[in-house]
Amino acid sequence: MILILDENTDAHSDEYRQLMERLSLLENIESRVHQIQGSERAVREIYLIGDTKVLQIDDMRALPCVAQAIRVSEEYRVLGRHKHDSRPAHFDYQGLRFGQDTLHVFAGLCAVDTREHVEEMMRALKDNGQQCTRMGAYKPRTSPYAFQGHGKECLPWVFELAGKYDIKVVAMEVTHESHAEEIRGALELTGNPTGIILQIGTRNTQNFELLKAVGRQTDYPVLIKRGFGITLDESLNAAEYLASEGNSKVVFALRGMKTNLGDPHRNFVDFAHVPVVKRLTRMPVCVDPSHSVGSRSSSPDGIFDAFHVTAQAIIAGANMVLVDFHPNPAKALVDGPQALKIDELPYFLEDVAIAREAYLKRAEASASFRDRH
Ligand code: PEP
Ligand code: MN
Repeated sequence: MILILDENTDAHSDEYRQLMERLSLLENIESRVHQIQGSERAVREIYLIGDTKVLQIDDMRALPCVAQAIRVSEEYRVLGRHKHDSRPAHFDYQGLRFGQDTLHVFAGLCAVDTREHVEEMMRALKDNGQQCTRMGAYKPRTSPYAFQGHGKECLPWVFELAGKYDIKVVAMEVTHESHAEEIRGALELTGNPTGIILQIGTRNTQNFELLKAVGRQTDYPVLIKRGFGITLDESLNAAEYLASEGNSKVVFALRGMKTNLGDPHRNFVDFAHVPVVKRLTRMPVCVDPSHSVGSRSSSPDGIFDAFHVTAQAIIAGANMVLVDFHPNPAKALVDGPQALKIDELPYFLEDVAIAREAYLKRAEASASFRDRH
């Protein structure tokens, strides 16, 4: 069960003390308090964990400071959608809204290589009205001999360049909890020129200790990728690890599944699950066409496969696109074969806008059908 407290609850008030006393008397039930910082206000929630079936929802609603009590199913307690659950399906970060109703493109380098390439990418983003990007500094690689990313050394100049080109949010993968601290340190050193979404890659979707560590910090939202060889349910539970530790600013990303059935794509594209994740949870849903498709192949209509799957995801309501670009894909140190070229960025964004407009029209048609029936 989740208790959402009144907006103006003072943790030092008598009422709050009474509430906590009452909760401490509940047998076999543990209370975990979470403070959720929104752009305008802070909300305090208490998760009751354990034998909560015996609790009456009306009794809990009547407790001091309690505005709302929600009985949650076992599944995805914090991030899930539950009956009579009016919690929002969005969060705000760096002045941008990330929700199940918004769309952001995170085009950028799979891996940071040279300063020139990073600057060229950022300049192109700004020229095309973009405020977000992806930049990999810590790369999980199949071979231990492959380029592992520049790590913390590159962070200060990457962040400075992001600031120079008015990039508000950089999605950056972390593979160890120390990376989040290194990112924090570099941001502080450079005067916080940009914001960060910490990315959990598909190889770490079930790295529970990493999830717990990243979930304990609430300064940076988290983008968690679906595990490429596990069920959707297992991946959604992995996302729940982040939230159960206190960070519910979580975006869920589909990036394709590992199976030969998907040939000739690098992974079997799983974007049909966009509406499913939106139905089961309150997380915005991201898609990664680059790691799904894995190449610059195109169909007879001349449209890249990566564009096709992006459009398919957006027309089904996707909220974010994480996509690899590179000024010179032949020189990219990681995933060059799937990188789009910088001069293809305006065309990509145009295709995204066409698909988004179609989705909005579809949503409108659905609303008007429902009104009539
Ligand atoms: C990435 O986005 O750079 C990446 C490594 O993706 P994934 O974890 O989906 O393989
Ligand atoms: Mn990659």
